[in-house]
Amino acid sequence: MFLSERHEAFRKEVREFAEHELPNLRIQEKEEENVFPKAAVELLIRQGLTGVPFPEKYGGAGKDTLSYCITVEEISRVWGSLGLTLAAHISLGSYPIYHFGTEEQKQKYLAPLARGEVLGSFGLTEPGAGSDASATKTVAEPGDGHYVLSGSKNFITTANYADTFVVTAVTDRTKGAKGISAFIVERNFPGFSIGKKEDKLGLRASDTATLVFDNCQVPEENLLGQEGQGFKIFMVTLDGGRISIGAMALGIAQASLDECLEYVRTHKLQDEQWVQEKIADMTARIQAARHLVYHSAWKKDAGEPFGKESAIAKYFASETATGSASSAISIMGLDGISKRYPAERFFRDAKLTEIGEGTSQIQKIVIARNLFKERGLL
Ligand SMILES: Cc1cc2nc3c(=O)[nH]c(=O)nc-3n(C[C@H](O)[C@H](O)[C@H](O)COP(=O)(O)OP(=O)(O)OC[C@H]3O[C@@H](n4cnc5c(N)ncnc54)[C@H](O)[C@@H]3O)c2cc1C
Repeated sequence: MFLSERHEAFRKEVREFAEHELPNLRIQEKEEENVFPKAAVELLIRQGLTGVPFPEKYGGAGKDTLSYCITVEEISRVWGSLGLTLAAHISLGSYPIYHFGTEEQKQKYLAPLARGEVLGSFGLTEPGAGSDASATKTVAEPGDGHYVLSGSKNFITTANYADTFVVTAVTDRTKGAKGISAFIVERNFPGFSIGKKEDKLGLRASDTATLVFDNCQVPEENLLGQEGQGFKIFMVTLDGGRISIGAMALGIAQASLDECLEYVRTHKLQDEQWVQEKIADMTARIQAARHLVYHSAWKKDAGEPFGKESAIAKYFASETATGSASSAISIMGLDGISKRYPAERFFRDAKLTEIGEGTSQIQKIVIARNLFKERGLL
């Protein structure tokens, strides 16, 4: 894939940072113990990576979506949980404020997020509203100068460590998806608390927990966009977020291939034809995934519609990550499933990329619907 010198130089910079700084932080231990990588997040902040795609006037680095993809890919290549923490902070916790927020909301919330002074999180999923987010049950009743939120959100990334949350709630039950609104909630708002922490298969060091709203008072100026715009806000947010989950999956897929190549070298498996066949398959799929992910980022940067492309990229890259991690284990045999090597971690982490921000089945629906619209069938 052709990248400009500027992008290549940026990749080199992020790769050097990830390869030199992160392995010192006892990745395997943190993953086993389900411990949030606070020290690693501090390093991301110091490296200026918490606001890569946002303008400098909002505390960001003023780079494009492709640079942001490269960042998430390279971080995830070394540590998937940190890649997810960064992607959720930027694409889910910050981007909706950048895209839909008022100037005041951007100054108050986006700038500290982009500078890394606080972390962001996004609450959409509920126990009965995962793939079908329009089934949201959390309600927001208008009060005197504020809304009162009641309900809960589950499986929310960085819930225990974020200060700023973008969440959805129903403001008009009679209007279906058009009755959903989005709000910016601060950690210390009365009636807001964090519930159960999840113990997950993979990406274990990333924090995942429930958000609880018990008559939580949210000032009316914290409505994001207009009342009833919440469904649109999360659809636009997820279109962009899928590019970053694609980039994250790409990083995990590449890590599996790199691990395999090192194993082939140390175990002298180069002449085994079945190994060559598996490595060739991984290489081809990873290369295709990289083109798809970068292409969706390029389309977003060019201001073109990119919803179909980001769904294709996320679908293909996440399934490539799972396939590559599985092939790595096949090549490595018992070493592949042993905790002495990271291949088993890549396998567990990869599977989650097929689920977060919409499962592969949901991506296929998004792809088909976009295509039908393009061809006038819908
Ligand atoms: C690592 C990780 C981090 C996450 N972080 C966040 C976060 O920060 N914020 C947030 O709001 N959410 C988050 N989520 C939740 C995620 O968005 C949901 O898990 C996802 O949308 C799927 O919802 P569900 O798990 O409830 O599955 P369900 O909707 O219950 O689906 C179950 C199965 O049914 C299939 N299915 C459902 N509907 C259809 C259909 N119409 N056609 C075909 N198949 C269908 C699905 O593909 C799936 O296989 C995270 C998830 C993961 C894995």
